[in-house]
Amino acid sequence: MITGAISEIKSLLGKPSNIVIVPHKNPDGDAMGSTLGLYHYLLKCKHDVVVIAPNDYPDFIKWLPGDETVLKYENQPEVTASLINRASVIFTLDFNALHRAGDNYGDLIEASDAIKVMIDHHQQPDDYAKYTYSDVSMSSTSEMVYNFIEMMGNLDAIDATIATCLYTGIMTDTGSFRFPSTTSRTHHVVADLIDKGANNAEIHNNVYDTNSYSRLQLLGRAMQNLKVVPELRTAYISLSQAELDSFNFKKGDTEGFVNYGLSLKGIIFAAIFIENKAEGIVKISFRSKGEFSVNEFARAHFNGGGHTNAAGGRSQSTLEETVDKFISILPQYKSQLSQK
Ligand code: 5GP
Ligand code: MN
Repeated sequence: MITGAISEIKSLLGKPSNIVIVPHKNPDGDAMGSTLGLYHYLLKCKHDVVVIAPNDYPDFIKWLPGDETVLKYENQPEVTASLINRASVIFTLDFNALHRAGDNYGDLIEASDAIKVMIDHHQQPDDYAKYTYSDVSMSSTSEMVYNFIEMMGNLDAIDATIATCLYTGIMTDTGSFRFPSTTSRTHHVVADLIDKGANNAEIHNNVYDTNSYSRLQLLGRAMQNLKVVPELRTAYISLSQAELDSFNFKKGDTEGFVNYGLSLKGIIFAAIFIENKAEGIVKISFRSKGEFSVNEFARAHFNGGGHTNAAGGRSQSTLEETVDKFISILPQYKSQLSQK
């Protein structure tokens, strides 16, 4: 925690500064909700602030207030690099290691002289920031930004705009307040955000009820591809590039698909394998229920990581080889996965 550093951060932010805020690559609802929530807060404190995302993100978060101001490193490498170079403070949000911003962008952030502040809830954070606020028990980075503003003694500064961003991040990272990371404190925070002007029904609608027809058709295909290994309480889905193409795949379309595997009765481990020919990789998402750590599984076998119950990874083998590897590894975890 950064308790001892609060007064230092208060004085650091006591005068207007050039501040850059960075979410992880392929930002999700929490990454953008937390960065834009902090953005609006720091703007109110009279700083010169910009959010620079590593790359683009799905439409279902593009309605967030301030979205039109977000720059993408991948689209404007020179402009954004000069903003990074002149920043005096860089906040990195919702990730625990600089390579999670992408290799080149991560190197650029590392090389900058700016004072770095990490706010994050992923396990095993790297030690690159001068101030690290890391708490793996937190539901979301957005909840931590609320706490951060509280530590700054400035909860009154949270207006409807900030509340909308933070509510969105908490809602998406908790699976709409259902994952075990959702605490009574989370509900207190969310209640306060509604009091401060977050329109919960509208936010839910903006995020979850803006499906395209082709995305629902793709979901149908994913469900047809769902395989179950009942004796290891595991379910997995794969989607090839050809399948994605045939359903007009757009970034974000497969968000949440992996959770359907976990919704099967008795299943405690779910995975989805998504071929990405442009990047030459298979992107994998892992989810679990209970004590089985997908963070450790993803770290050990698929160059990834994350949380105990939600993690990601990647493979440079073909889709088929990647799935075969997964199936061949599973029996090693028999004692943890099989019915007791
Ligand atoms: P998702 O499956 O939704 O992409 O990611 C689930 C969680 O795992 C998120 O908290 C995400 O930040 C983390 N995560 C996803 N991919 C990776 C990865 O390649 N490496 C690490 N360290 N974490 C990841
Ligand atoms: Mn998060």
